[in-house]
Amino acid sequence: MLQLTDIHAGYNRTSVLHGVSIDVPRGQLVCLIGSNGAGKTTTMRVASGMLAPRAGRLALDAQPLDGLAAHHVQRLGVSHVPEGRRVFPSLSVLDNLEVGAYRRARFGLRPDVHDDLERVFGYFPRLKERRQQLAGTLSGGEQQMLAMGRALMGRPRMLLLDEPSMGLSPKLVDDVFGAIAELRGAGMTMLLVEQFAATALELADYAYVMENGRIALHGPARQLKGDPAVREAYLGKA
Ligand code: ATP
Repeated sequence: MLQLTDIHAGYNRTSVLHGVSIDVPRGQLVCLIGSNGAGKTTTMRVASGMLAPRAGRLALDAQPLDGLAAHHVQRLGVSHVPEGRRVFPSLSVLDNLEVGAYRRARFGLRPDVHDDLERVFGYFPRLKERRQQLAGTLSGGEQQMLAMGRALMGRPRMLLLDEPSMGLSPKLVDDVFGAIAELRGAGMTMLLVEQFAATALELADYAYVMENGRIALHGPARQLKGDPAVREAYLGKA
């Protein structure tokens, strides 16, 4: 569904990605793991149209996305949930979610907001309990859930999830991974960057390991999980 082919990208004079190719097939959960600074977030920025690659190709269902701005890529159904919590702090939880649906309405689809809200509250019951609370007063984990919920309100065809477990307590990490597993069960296509490599490999269909701006290894997630080199470098030696 989403294909990155031989992507080179960077910032100013720094080159970060040196020929990255990633394929995210429809309905699959693909994860991207690797050490700090390997270029995972940069890859997500390229995939969402936020950062124009210097070379290489980006395509959605074989349609080239090259040169499209982030809002155009989003309009085509690719929703990016960036690292950190980008919610509107002075709006309530409900208003934040409705903003996600409003984007869709602007693009001419009839917003069946109520059903979508119930679906999002099904994934994240905690957001329902706190729907009137200002988003800025939610805990970090709750804000992360809200950022994912808002993306889902736009009925995306695929999600780019950048470190959704970042900074969360273990209980909330479980909730976020539970929601990702449910989304996968519902057929959502996802590209996931995750620091909890073991959990990500457990959930994912396919995985890429990134090192110094290159894909060092890739394969079915279960196979990588059993790979001694991956275990040693990313999963601890246990
Ligand atoms: P982490 O797991 O630590 O988040 P990552 O694999 O996501 O790391 P990136 O955030 O893609 O890595 O960063 C890759 C390299 O690009 C790093 O050396 C980083 O310092 C650099 N970099 C990232 N963003 C910028 C920026 N806006 N300007 C300049 N350099 C940047």
